[in-house]
Amino acid sequence: MRLSRYFLPVLKETPAEAQIASHRLMLRAGMIKQASAGIYSWLPLGFKVLRKLENIVHEEQLRAGHIPMLMPTLQSADLWRESGRYDDYGAEMLRIKDRHGRDMLYGPTNEELITDIFRAHVGSYKDLPLTLYHIQWKFRDEVRPRFGVMRGREFLMKDGYNFDLTREDALHSYNRHLVSYLRTYERMGLQAIPMRADSGPIGGDDTHEFLVLADTGESEVFYDSAITDLRFGDRDIDYDDPAQCRAVLEEFTSRYARTDETHDEALFNAIPEERRRVARGIEVGQIFYFGTKYSEPMGATVQGPDGKQVPVHMGSHGIGVSRLVGAIIEASHDERGIIWPEGVTPFHAGIVNLKQGDPQADAACEALYRALVARGLEPLYDDRDERAGGKFATMDLIGLPWRITVGPRGLKNGVVELTSRRTGESEEMPPETAVERLAQIYAGHLARIVS
Ligand code: ATP
Ligand code: MG
Repeated sequence: MRLSRYFLPVLKETPAEAQIASHRLMLRAGMIKQASAGIYSWLPLGFKVLRKLENIVHEEQLRAGHIPMLMPTLQSADLWRESGRYDDYGAEMLRIKDRHGRDMLYGPTNEELITDIFRAHVGSYKDLPLTLYHIQWKFRDEVRPRFGVMRGREFLMKDGYNFDLTREDALHSYNRHLVSYLRTYERMGLQAIPMRADSGPIGGDDTHEFLVLADTGESEVFYDSAITDLRFGDRDIDYDDPAQCRAVLEEFTSRYARTDETHDEALFNAIPEERRRVARGIEVGQIFYFGTKYSEPMGATVQGPDGKQVPVHMGSHGIGVSRLVGAIIEASHDERGIIWPEGVTPFHAGIVNLKQGDPQADAACEALYRALVARGLEPLYDDRDERAGGKFATMDLIGLPWRITVGPRGLKNGVVELTSRRTGESEEMPPETAVERLAQIYAGHLARIVS
């Protein structure tokens, strides 16, 4: 993309309404614009990051054997009356009447809708196990929408639902989700710690929230600092193997890590004092096992091996895709702007032309641009007729991890400059070497096609 042809409405001033860094930076970097309280338009740069996160989520869901689909945002109230949640959900649910006076709602989550699909089409234990998921907008009429996309009213969530014959099978599904979530967050450059949590309106006994540690997080968390040394890394896990998935769950949940809702002072105090941490975290996902809470009242049964009808065991699993954009920025920024992790950056590298209009500099930038594209990379070329300082400030603000600076002086010696946004370190090298270096850096991060 050439910046002169892009739509990147960066702001010079710090918006007064934004209280935390991610909100400020998303507004300043021209990623979002508030449409009304807690509801945002995603401008091109923000939309690009959102799409990248969605893509990672899809890839990791597919890897775990889960099946993508799409359910609508508007739902019929009748389904929610069947589960008993229409009255329970309270003021967070946006209730709408259609022209025929029928009660509708904008889905805050989808347990009822998916259970209805399941009961209409699945009748035998032979069709299990089954995990369906989608990435769709949700609406919750939060009392206090704030922090930009972190606590919006309309927000994008991946929600998945598993259907299993037995409790044991459903617990394997739970563990499999935990594993796939660990991998998902690490690919986004985040450490998200699974913590024992409270199940809230979803219900059920087993639940973990995934929290990114950040001072601006809304959740109070208590944990053993040893947990922060754990990395999922590049493990090759067989998602169909219950023992392997359980081992990962045990490894990542054996240390004390809880949100304030489930915090247990006595257990916490049993941790050696130097490892006790009280901090704040951003909830970026949650997994639940709730057994037959929905399948029983809604009649989602299958014929078991002995011919008897039994309600299926279920769980649901959510990732806050739009909140993650903010969470990543909270975890990765400095006073000059955002610092995108390579896995989610909207463009792989910026090209800054120090002397726009200089035939040699222009030609070198064009050649670099084409060479990067040929390697499957997406550069953002600042081809505007602006001073270098302004171009650097924009690149720093929007946070591309790498910048290539091209100017007449370097070109005389056959070199350009490759700069890391994270460390600020620069290195001179021939343009071909810079292209090669970037291709290597991004080799593990290029998106595959999602089916
Ligand atoms: P919270 O406690 O933050 O209100 P929740 O526990 O009600 O969230 P879940 O039902 O677990 O939310 O939804 C799954 C994920 O969706 C959450 O982990 C979070 O990342 C995201 N999410 C929930 N509410 C919002 C919101 N208002 N704005 C943006 N993302 C949200
Ligand atoms: Mg939650």
